[in-house]
Amino acid sequence: MKHLIATLCVLALASPALAQEEEVTPDAFSVNNVYAALYHEFGHLFVDQFQIPILGNEEYVADAIATLLILKDGGDAAYDISYDTVDGYLRSAEIYGAEKLEEVDFNGEHGMDQQRAAQMTCLLVGAEPELFGELANQMGMEAERQEACAFEYEQAKTGWEKLISPHLRGDGPAGAKLTVSYEDGGEYAAIARLLKDEKVLEAVAAVVTNEFKLAKPATLRASLCGEENAFYDPEDSSVTLCYEYAQLYFDMIADPENAGMDAGE
Ligand SMILES: [Zn+2]
Repeated sequence: MKHLIATLCVLALASPALAQEEEVTPDAFSVNNVYAALYHEFGHLFVDQFQIPILGNEEYVADAIATLLILKDGGDAAYDISYDTVDGYLRSAEIYGAEKLEEVDFNGEHGMDQQRAAQMTCLLVGAEPELFGELANQMGMEAERQEACAFEYEQAKTGWEKLISPHLRGDGPAGAKLTVSYEDGGEYAAIARLLKDEKVLEAVAAVVTNEFKLAKPATLRASLCGEENAFYDPEDSSVTLCYEYAQLYFDMIADPENAGMDAGE
């Protein structure tokens, strides 16, 4: 019962989004959310290429891997990506209309966005209670729950390290090649230029190829898709970031009303 109450509190928080520091820019918010989306998709790639066993929901696993990768280097960048990603989930929840509980799709493969925000916050506050305590408070997470998150974080980290250890590069040679490409942005040229200038794909590719030995060649591309999405395709081991996705997160800060109106279905 207590658990249910806690869950409802999180849902009640769906709107508004987190209190953002004033200096958050559409550019930074978009780039940070793209980082998180790409690390999530690489979570799927690792599961596929390294045949990582999954007990439960692969989406949750991919989210946990993304959070661990984001936290790995620590520092301000890791903090900003984490904070903006949780905020991005809450804003996405608003846009995609989960405000009415009866409309929530409990059968979807991805957890509800609020749930993803809460799961990520739990791992963050579990890893760095000092740094992410305020975020957890904003999320309405009780002190007792925040403490329990330290255990959840350790469990996720230990499990991940155990499963990934055979695939770490260490001082050895690189694994299979990871090709990066930015395809034509068309009417999304400005957001394509932002990602290119910030070398977002290159940065993610560097983390992946420096840390891990890919089992087979893979591609990381940014392209137009006709939808606001990012996905992993096991057919050719490719991760695709749609320019429309980056634009949506840009608009969440620059033009929130338009971001909401654009999310048609
Ligand atoms: Zn996924």
